[in-house]
Amino acid sequence: PGIDKKGVFIYRTIEDLELMTEWARKATRGAVIGGGLLGLEAAKAMIDLGISNTQIIEFAPRLMPRQIDSAASRLLQSKLEQLGLTIHTSKNTSEIIGDDCISGMTFSDSTSMEIDMLVISAGIKPRDELAKASGLDTGARGGIVVNDQLKTSDPDIFAIGECALYNGMIYGLVAPGYEMADVVVRNLMAGFVGQVPTAAFTGFDMSTKLKLIGVDVASFGDPFAAGEDIKSIAFEDTMKGIYKRINISSDGKQLLGGILIGDAAQYNMLLQTCKNNIVLPPNPEEVILGSRGGESETAAGVAGLPDDALICSCESVTKAGICTAVSEDNCETVDAVKKCTKAGTGCGGCVPMVKDLITHTMKSQGKYLRNVLCEHFNYSRQELFDMVKIHALKSYDEVLDKVG
Ligand SMILES: Cc1cc2nc3c(=O)[nH]c(=O)nc-3n(C[C@H](O)[C@H](O)[C@H](O)COP(=O)(O)OP(=O)(O)OC[C@H]3O[C@@H](n4cnc5c(N)ncnc54)[C@H](O)[C@@H]3O)c2cc1C
Repeated sequence: PGIDKKGVFIYRTIEDLELMTEWARKATRGAVIGGGLLGLEAAKAMIDLGISNTQIIEFAPRLMPRQIDSAASRLLQSKLEQLGLTIHTSKNTSEIIGDDCISGMTFSDSTSMEIDMLVISAGIKPRDELAKASGLDTGARGGIVVNDQLKTSDPDIFAIGECALYNGMIYGLVAPGYEMADVVVRNLMAGFVGQVPTAAFTGFDMSTKLKLIGVDVASFGDPFAAGEDIKSIAFEDTMKGIYKRINISSDGKQLLGGILIGDAAQYNMLLQTCKNNIVLPPNPEEVILGSRGGESETAAGVAGLPDDALICSCESVTKAGICTAVSEDNCETVDAVKKCTKAGTGCGGCVPMVKDLITHTMKSQGKYLRNVLCEHFNYSRQELFDMVKIHALKSYDEVLDKVG
């Protein structure tokens, strides 16, 4: 109750954000219901908008319980608290109070809180009104029921994206929506040319890597895998705020899933190792701790991936697609590969692997590789260092003007 009061927001569109920004100018105490990805981002945005007293209200006993384990939640919570956020877990909102505008909230544990701005970010509500009105089957908690071909209960109507309920699940990410669209298009096209539609949606790997308020958070495969046949290796550095966990088969050969907090540089490689059942090195801990000596395991690892390994899941670009762009279309920079294949143009998480694949492919073609620092400078780190010294350059802009 009380959700219609002024000062209570959900956020989905740019217009929602504009309204929130406007309201935040006069707000001093804020709260966010929901300690998931979007809720945490919203809370940080409120702090950035000047509401230094911002609280997060989470129903579950810890943050992001569906994505990360309790050790990772603890680490994340302490990082967020350092940013000035107050976090309440196991807290269930009863009512939003106030006259015309919000003035506070009450909770099921008989406590209350005074606030003048509230953002609700407590999960996806599928827009299935039209489907319901049309008599299509919908789930008890919303969503249009679809089968493997994304057909609704009326076989002439398809549903894809966040309104579709597949196998009891609503997929709240872009990539599964693209995959669903692809299945529908392939089947429709098959129908047009008189073929039997065979494409099927079989669920989607929800592995994700994102930067949450400046903190890398990633989980892949089965992040919680446990049991007699499964071993876990975990590394925790509370000084640097890093937590890494991998779950492996008891013979140490297969990677089943894992969690990365604070440093997710190895995410893509681990994801591909997991998805493609690539055999782990004899000391599996090296995949999160780095190998002791020798080539970086990432650079060595891309060579071992199968051609059909999906490198860019946003744009569905495989290893073979990237290597072909390098070897046959002469794409020798990340930008060129992006233009040619679209890999790396979505979330950008695969860019390090794209770089490694460019290096690997060019090396295998016997091409000369200049070890330049980045796309802004055509020099190696040492060369640039020397130039900065010789020209007595004092700022990034000066360096860019002179030699960039
Ligand atoms: C703040 C925020 C951040 C996000 N960040 C990420 C991210 O980083 N990565 C990621 O993968 N996903 C992210 N998502 C989730 C992602 O945006 C959704 O999963 C994706 O947009 C779903 O696509 P869709 O086409 O099913 O629905 P939408 O993108 O919501 O599009 C549905 C459209 O249909 C319109 N519509 C609804 N009902 C009707 C009707 N009856 N008639 C006509 N039109 C109608 C709606 O107005 C809307 O424009 C984020 C979501 C939010 C809210």
